[in-house]
Parts: sequence; C-alpha cells; structure tokens
Amino acid sequence: MGTSSWNWVHVDTRTLEANYRLLKSRLAESVRLLAMVKSDAYGHGLVEAADAFGRAGCDDFGVAEIAEGVKLREAGCSETIFIFLGCSPEAVDYYFSHRLTPVVFTRRDLHLLAQQAEQRRTKLKLFLKFDCGMSRLGFSPEMAASLARQCAELPFVDIGGLISHYPCADDQNAASSRDVERRFNAAVEPFAGIPGLVRSLCNSGGMLYRPEAHGELVRAGIALYGYYPEGSTGRPEPGQPGLRPAMSVVTSVLQVNEVRAGQGISYGHTYHADRDSRLAVLPVGYSDGYLRCLSNRAAVLIGGQRAPIRGRICMNLCMADVTDIPGVKAGDEAVLLGRQGDQQIDADELAGWGQTISYEILCALGNNNERLFTSLS
Ligand SMILES: *Cc1c(COP(=O)(O)O)cnc(C)c1O
Repeated sequence: MGTSSWNWVHVDTRTLEANYRLLKSRLAESVRLLAMVKSDAYGHGLVEAADAFGRAGCDDFGVAEIAEGVKLREAGCSETIFIFLGCSPEAVDYYFSHRLTPVVFTRRDLHLLAQQAEQRRTKLKLFLKFDCGMSRLGFSPEMAASLARQCAELPFVDIGGLISHYPCADDQNAASSRDVERRFNAAVEPFAGIPGLVRSLCNSGGMLYRPEAHGELVRAGIALYGYYPEGSTGRPEPGQPGLRPAMSVVTSVLQVNEVRAGQGISYGHTYHADRDSRLAVLPVGYSDGYLRCLSNRAAVLIGGQRAPIRGRICMNLCMADVTDIPGVKAGDEAVLLGRQGDQQIDADELAGWGQTISYEILCALGNNNERLFTSLS
C-alpha cells in the first residue's frame, strides 16, 4: 500500500451513504436529516463523510466549531453548515464570508451577529438553542417570549428555527424526554408565527425512538456511522435491514515472542502468563486511540480468531496472546475494530471493555490514525 504507518482506519463511504439513505427513508417526507460531522465525523473524516452523506441527498451538516465549518466550506460543500458552539468575536466574519449558520445560545452573540449583519447589510439566518433539560448550552425556555420580541426588532436577523437536545433519548423509557418535549414546545410558542420555522429536537436516539418529536429537522450522528445510541442492544435481528458500521481499524503484527509460564507482561506486570505463551507485539497503543483502559480486557482478531490483550497497553505498543493461534508471524494482519473471517469486534464491544460508549471509541481510533477510504459495499 506504500504506507507510512502500521495502523489504518478503513472507512467505507458507501456504507455511510447507505446508512443515510436508510435513515432518511424512515422519516416523513417533510423532515430534513442533518448529518452531524463534528469531531472529524466521529473519526470518519469530515470532508469524505460529508461528501458521502451529500451523495445520499444530505443538505444540512452540523459541526461544533467554526474552523470545522470553514474547512468543510473550503472543501467545496455548498449546503447549509450549522455551527453549534459559537465562536469568539474575532471569528464572527467567517459566518458571512463562508455562509455558515450560527446556532445562538447567548444574548451577547445574538446582538453581535445582528450588529454585524446590519453593518454588512446582509440578512443572516440563525437558529436559537434552548436548554430544555440537558443542563448544558442554551437559553432557558422562560426567556423565549422576550427573545421572540427582541428578534422581531432585528431587521437583519432571520430566525430559521429553534433547537434543543435530549439528555436521555437513548433510553426509550425515559420520562424526562416527555418533559424536554413540553419545555421545547413552550419555547417554540412565541416564535410560532414565523413562516417556515424549523423545530429540531432529535439526535439519533430521538430520531429512532421519538417520531412524534421529529419536528422539521433531525440531527443524526452515531446512527449515520452505523451504531445505535444505546449500544448493541439496539441492533435489529440478524437478517433484518439495519445500520452498518463504516469503520474498521487494522494493524500488523510487529514481532512474535515466546514467554514462560509466570513471566510478567508489560508495564507494572499486571498480567503473568498462566502457561508458556506466544505474544504478538502490535504497534498500536493509547496514543493511537487504543485506550489504556482496554488493558487486559480487549481482544484483537488475528488469523480469524480472538487474541486477548495481555498486560497494559503502552503508548505505541500492546501485546496479544496468540498461543492458541498457530503460525502467527510478523506482518500478519491484526484487526482491532471490524471483521476478520467470521469474527467481528464492533465499537460497542470495545466500549463495553473500556466502560465507555461507541462514540468515544470511534473518535479515539478514527482521529488518531491514518484513514483509507473505500467504497466496497
Ligand atoms: C452530537 C450532537 C448530535 C448527534 O448526536 P447523536 O447521539 O450522535 O445522534 C445532535 N445534536 C447536537 C446538538 C449534538 O451536539
């Protein structure tokens, strides 16, 4: 492959397209499906993932910071790009120069943007974010009436819509989701007369499990990347159509070594060989996103079989036990995430070993290794 690294993230862009099409097909015709491509598209590559979703018909993209929006615009994206985390006053010009769409959550930003739009004699379409139960970013719904009056007096500001975010949408039984919807509806009320007002409350969990709350725009992240927000329990029965992971991560065996029964392995000797063993040394560690908390818990796929990680994962190395896998040698493929033969390790399984969520696994592995894009499926 002419490669400069041992470690590769494979991203299948056709799978990203297929996931988008599947999710879109399950929405009412009138509901827009925004692709969340923040954090380099959850590790899948901002520009390439946005291109794939664009091919599948996506017109709305979401990123956290203005720098990501600028990058996407400069890569040729001509659709709507929402900036969810605002920006410093010095960076405000990018909203205008790069036609980025602000999501506003403070009066200070609202005034600044209104003033800048007026100075440029340019109408600026922006969205307002309300906090309806997440206790994170946003205006309080109690402020909605006064905000609506205020916005009506800003001649260069168009309110495109209102946004909020569920704290527990991955839990299909969460009573709190109904409270969030009640608060959001109360915030929408004073704005209801605005023609074409967009209401957007749903992330992947809301999109999948709260169809009555879809509004005009849903914002999908994890589902587009092939995972269900509550983990593998959300997957459909085998054979049923469903979302498919688009990322796999592979490395190569660097060396195979013999250790004697009782010998300690890696830093701190947190594992001692329980028999004479063979260890495959892998050139991947926590700086490559193979989290240290996976030490002594995870497994990799070598020769179509599971090889357990022994001892602590180091910064750039770790050891997999290949005693029961005959013939393993330097250069053999080792799969950290994905399929080999009839075995598979997905991000939910890794997340279980690391006591985290698929989101973090995808970001960690995807954003710390070189990516290779394919369109296989
Ligand atoms: C990240 C994010 C989403 C997408 O969440 P998923 O659970 O990945 O679908 C939606 N809305 C906002 C505001 C976000 O920050």
